[in-house]
Amino acid sequence: MFTNIYSPIHQLKHTARNQVLVKRDDLIDPYISGNKWRKLKYILKDVQKSNKNHIVTFGGAFSNHLVATAAACARADLKSTAFVRGEVVSNEMLLLCKLFGMNLIFTDRDSYRNKRLLFDSHFGTDPDVYFVDEGGAGTEAVRGCAEVIAELPQEVDHLFCAAGTGTTAAGLLKGIHQRKLKTQLHVVPVLKGGDFIADEIYKHTGNIEQLVMHTDYHFGGYAKTPPALIEYIKNFVADEGMLIDPVYTSKMFFAIDDLISNKYFKKEEKIIAIHTGGLLGIWGMKDKFIY
Ligand SMILES: *Cc1c(COP(=O)(O)O)cnc(C)c1O
Repeated sequence: MFTNIYSPIHQLKHTARNQVLVKRDDLIDPYISGNKWRKLKYILKDVQKSNKNHIVTFGGAFSNHLVATAAACARADLKSTAFVRGEVVSNEMLLLCKLFGMNLIFTDRDSYRNKRLLFDSHFGTDPDVYFVDEGGAGTEAVRGCAEVIAELPQEVDHLFCAAGTGTTAAGLLKGIHQRKLKTQLHVVPVLKGGDFIADEIYKHTGNIEQLVMHTDYHFGGYAKTPPALIEYIKNFVADEGMLIDPVYTSKMFFAIDDLISNKYFKKEEKIIAIHTGGLLGIWGMKDKFIY
């Protein structure tokens, strides 16, 4: 399942001044989408290598990671269980998780904080079970994300990604360093106070040369979608014919547009954005889109 992926590069039609290309990782799979596919690739290989057959992981009730893990496990003939943060709820994302056969354990916010303890108390002695951190974070995830770089044209000046934990960004930067490219990696944290993400990246790469953080495009915080962002999404999708999500990629594309307007880049410089997927996220925000 992790061969022959479809992730073409498309050009945006409506940008001023600079050409912007988009690496369409969102098209890899509707459910194992974007960076979640990249992150799971080597995790699944490691599960198979260690002769386990059951992935246990963690996430919020609207987690792209949970849907991706559920779908990937079903395809790889693995069992999947998720600790879901908060009170018992049902929504479109969790419905998909259940359809893909995932077992959901709703967990109050206090117990959720200590994931190892939670894991051990339910599965501590089970030899078949494999622990995957929230969002799939870890060295396997970094390795998978680094592979994006080999699929890009060599002469990219500026590469953009949205960041929640920074694992994807760490992989991209690692790939840039490994290939000795001159490309700058621009990271747009989607949460407030995103400076810590540079430290997270450093933990994985040991070197943050060529990293540029843009911490002012969070729109109030994680999953916050003020009217200006909703307006931006509506216009972008109608103009480009390319769907973007309200939590991650819309904030990245907004940042790129804003930087272009401020003449941040030289005119001839090449910009590529990674579309990290997450398009199911729109169903958690239906009420925000009033027409
Ligand atoms: C999870 C997710 C991210 C964040 O990835 P990190 O590796 O946690 O920084 C970005 N974009 C989308 C669409 C996601 O689902």
